[in-house]
Amino acid sequence: MSTRQVVKALRRNECQLTGTDGPHDKWVCKCGKHSTAVPRHTETSVGVVRNIIRDLGCLPEGWLQ
Ligand SMILES: [Zn+2]
Repeated sequence: MSTRQVVKALRRNECQLTGTDGPHDKWVCKCGKHSTAVPRHTETSVGVVRNIIRDLGCLPEGWLQ
């Protein structure tokens, strides 16, 4: 999946970019209890997409696909 799509989905779900952590950008969901790391690559691998979905457990099912 292209990282642009991931970022678009994050923004659509009112997640906020809060900073960077090495090669990753840190995002926090709107409830503030969940956060995830998105690698700054052009493409985000299936495994990382799965982690992002798991990390942001409060978002509606299918928000990122
Ligand atoms: Zn949350």
